[in-house]
Amino acid sequence: MDLKKFIIDVKDFPQAGVIFKDITPLLNDVDAFKYVIDEFTNFVKETGANVIVAPEARGFLFAPAIAYAAGCRFVLVRKPGKLPRAVNDVEYSLEYGTGHLQMHKGDLRENDKVVILDDVLATGGTMDGIIKLCHKESNVDIAGIACLIDLSFLHDDALAKEYNVKTLITY
Ligand code: 5GP
Repeated sequence: MDLKKFIIDVKDFPQAGVIFKDITPLLNDVDAFKYVIDEFTNFVKETGANVIVAPEARGFLFAPAIAYAAGCRFVLVRKPGKLPRAVNDVEYSLEYGTGHLQMHKGDLRENDKVVILDDVLATGGTMDGIIKLCHKESNVDIAGIACLIDLSFLHDDALAKEYNVKTLITY
C-alpha cells in the first residue's frame, strides 16, 4: 500500500525550519491503519518477541493494537513525572540538548525479547535512549525495532547494522 499519501508535511511545526510529518491522516483511514498494524504484527511474530516497548505519545497509538494482535506484553516509555511508581531513567539526545525517558522498574524481565516501536525515526536519539533504558535492569534481547517512518537523511546506518529494523515509509 502507498502509505505516503496518508502523511502530511507541515511546515514550521513545532518550530520554524522544521517540516513535521503528520501521521494522523493514517489513523483516520480504516484500511491504512489496519495495513500498518498487520505489517508490524507480522514483523513482531517473525522476531519471536514477547514484549513491545513504545514511547509516548505516538508510539502509544500503534503499540497496544500490535501487542494485542501478536499476543505480547506492552511496556510504556514516558517523559519524567508521568509514571507513578519507581522508575529506571535514561538521558538521551534531542536535536538541541538532552532529555530523559523513563520506564517502571520491573516492567522488563530477565530474557525478555523486545521489539521497540515508534512512529518516526529521525536522528535516532530517542531510539538509542530507549535501547539503553531496556538494558538498565534486566538482561533482555532487542529482537527488533519498528518505525512507521524512517527519515533516513537524518541518521547513519548504525542502528540497521546492529538490529533488525523494520520501517514502512522512507524519506
Ligand atoms: P529522533 O529522536 O529520532 O530525532 O526523533 C524521533 C522522535 O521524535 C519520535 O518519538 C517521534 O515521535 C518524534 N518526531 C520527530 N520528528 C517527527 C516528525 O516529523 N513527525 C512525527 N510524527 N514525529 C516526529
